[in-house]
Amino acid sequence: MKYGVNEQGYYGDFGGAYIPEMLYPNVEELRQQYLTIINDDSFKAEFNQLLKDYVGRPSPLYYAKRYSEKYGANIFFKREDLNHTGSHKINNAIGQILLAKRLNKKRIIAETGAGQHGVATATVCALMGIECVVYMGEIDMARQAPNVSRMKMLGARVVPAVSGSKTLKDATNEALRDWIGNPVDTHYIIGSVVGPYPYPDMVARFQSIISLETKKQLLEHTGKELPEYVMACVGGGSNAMGMFYHFLDDESVKLVAVEAAGKGVESGHSAATTFLGKEGVLHGSRTILMQTDDGQVVEPYSISAGLDYPGIGPQHAHLFKINRAQYVSVTDDEALQAGLLCCQLEGIIPAIETAHALAQLEKMKFNPADNVVVCISGRGDKDLDTYIKYFGY
Ligand SMILES: *Cc1c(COP(=O)(O)O)cnc(C)c1O
Repeated sequence: MKYGVNEQGYYGDFGGAYIPEMLYPNVEELRQQYLTIINDDSFKAEFNQLLKDYVGRPSPLYYAKRYSEKYGANIFFKREDLNHTGSHKINNAIGQILLAKRLNKKRIIAETGAGQHGVATATVCALMGIECVVYMGEIDMARQAPNVSRMKMLGARVVPAVSGSKTLKDATNEALRDWIGNPVDTHYIIGSVVGPYPYPDMVARFQSIISLETKKQLLEHTGKELPEYVMACVGGGSNAMGMFYHFLDDESVKLVAVEAAGKGVESGHSAATTFLGKEGVLHGSRTILMQTDDGQVVEPYSISAGLDYPGIGPQHAHLFKINRAQYVSVTDDEALQAGLLCCQLEGIIPAIETAHALAQLEKMKFNPADNVVVCISGRGDKDLDTYIKYFGY
């Protein structure tokens, strides 16, 4: 693959595995084994069976008629919101739990900010009967109490991270500390296309089912495999990478990645990484991140918890730098309005993350014959409180 990872774990200038020496054995074991395991026929059979019977795949490719009329093009929604647990995150969680089983791991750890990845991880651990520990910032636990309860109901232990800002980065530190202390029996499930190599490549492969299905479904709908545009929101970038993956080498397909501008890119309250960020190292890989002049990570802000991340995965940094994909951003207000529009035009309440991708449609100029696919990364049930507060319903 032209835009894929090289043998050293890099995408152009980005990627690699910048990890403390004590983590080297864990990451090296994964690096040596992941491709052999996930390309094995028995792995593929079990993965595909669970995606079908447990997750509910293939997710539909829905022709959004009223959106198409409004925006003057053929707009399709790839319905990851219909997956079990309500978003694309389950695709990766299933892949990694099957991998962990084949590596003889007896224990799973994860970190979570909003709790969505924690819930997906707790779900697959329940499914497999494997011990699950989720690290979560103390402040995030208070903000996302329903997801904490969900994880507990699913049998996970949720451990508060009480250091630093008591949010995602502190939870990540706690998870890494745990992994260093338990290198033999524990697998660390990372929830996006971030982290040291091989995680970005591994997660992208698990999520690539999204674009694999889309190609076949587009052929049925339109008689052509290739659309003119593919669009997705970007936090760390896993739903976008899954949506882009099988279109990357088709240079005619325009890829549009939508970041969270928060209160505006110049407001000081934003998560528009490609606009505000610089090259550096975050969570084990060389990428683009929001940082101060002396290299401290800047706290990001977005109304959407899933996009509230100071970096992007290294493959995205590469696609941005070489201009293979276009990176844009959408504010909180634009996203919430787009979320409401989707409710009222299509009867679908999208996650606020997803609403960012939908808001970008307002800013595009299409030709009437254009086929446009938007990844509906998740459903909005988890965001009802935010919508209700904003619109006063
Ligand atoms: C977590 C999440 C995202 C952001 O994560 P990516 O890795 O960028 O996909 C987007 N949408 C939903 C619904 C999410 O739960």
